[in-house]
Amino acid sequence: MLLTNDIAKKTIQLRRTLHANPELSGKEKETAIRIKDFLAGQAPDAIIDNIGGYGIAALYDSGRDGPTVLLRADLDALPIDEVNTFPYRSQTTGVSHKCGHDGHMAILAGLSMILKTHRPKKGRLVLLFQPEEENGQGANKVINDSKFRSIQPDYAFALHNLPGYKKNGVVVKEGPFAAASKGLIVELKGQSSHAAHPEEGHSPVSMFCELIAGMNRLPDIGGQFRDFSLLTIIHARLGEVAFGTNPGKATVMATLRTFLNSDMTTLYTKAVELARDLGEKHGIKTHISTTEEFPATINDTQATEIIRNAVSLSSAATANITEPFRWSEDFGHFSPITKSALFGIGAGQDHPRLHNHDYDFPDDIIETGISMFYHIADQLVNVT
Ligand SMILES: [Zn+2]
Ligand SMILES: [Zn+2]
Repeated sequence: MLLTNDIAKKTIQLRRTLHANPELSGKEKETAIRIKDFLAGQAPDAIIDNIGGYGIAALYDSGRDGPTVLLRADLDALPIDEVNTFPYRSQTTGVSHKCGHDGHMAILAGLSMILKTHRPKKGRLVLLFQPEEENGQGANKVINDSKFRSIQPDYAFALHNLPGYKKNGVVVKEGPFAAASKGLIVELKGQSSHAAHPEEGHSPVSMFCELIAGMNRLPDIGGQFRDFSLLTIIHARLGEVAFGTNPGKATVMATLRTFLNSDMTTLYTKAVELARDLGEKHGIKTHISTTEEFPATINDTQATEIIRNAVSLSSAATANITEPFRWSEDFGHFSPITKSALFGIGAGQDHPRLHNHDYDFPDDIIETGISMFYHIADQLVNVT
């Protein structure tokens, strides 16, 4: 393939530099500068910076008719302390690349080194380095940035490394690929009083218990959902640790997950109705808010076919999956605006899992990533 030893070496070097210098969602300033400097050396026709925050996009434009193809990597690291001791370990206490976004960036940067001499013969190729994936905000911010208007992709592709799957196997699935998810926060307000006189206050405790039990049952209520739905209570708090006080407030937080966006609407609506009804029944003021919303990632049929072809052209192994993943990816924001698909590359069956303290992106899957993106691009904008 086109991946020379020099490209492989520089790509791994870049990956390790990015790994040593991680930045949290929305704070990817230095990472973006590093990526922009690297891309500037690969002769793109244009670089757009500060798109959707610290996002960077490199354009390779044939100047001829044809589709605009967007390939996306993500910039951000996580608030997790690294326990690894290798020389390129994170230099920032409490922050590290535990989702492999350093590897995703290296793959796209590696591709740019090939594009320097293998330019599109038709259409345009856009390499997007997107900020804020982990909090679910980046893709949306990029899409809504006025600078995105000049991009308007006809196709969008992204990959994610997948521990638990055979190294370098490409995980492909048409239709729902990763779940929709939404953080739900329900705040309850009654009236606190002395613990000796609960009758003088109005504790939310009864509603608190009924709300948690009721929310837990929501996904099991038959006939409401077309596919998988899950509600996980992730945090709950009632009053303060004060033995002399009858509590006056409480908070319940849950993460909602579904494979279909329509099921998310149902699950969310049912949860809100439950909270409002219980609030009325118990005379407790109820405030509902949401956070970290991810739409489902739905792989387009034609885009999935292009990925399958790229697997053959890369001589990679395919791992077809039947069930979507329960985790979410903010790449799902691209699903409604363009023909898009996300695929996985196995990081090794026994590899430490994503977001674990000892995780590190495996450098020996970079080549498969570059090859996949190259063959995806070639089918649409002819880069050979
Ligand atoms: Zn992650
Ligand atoms: Zn990730």
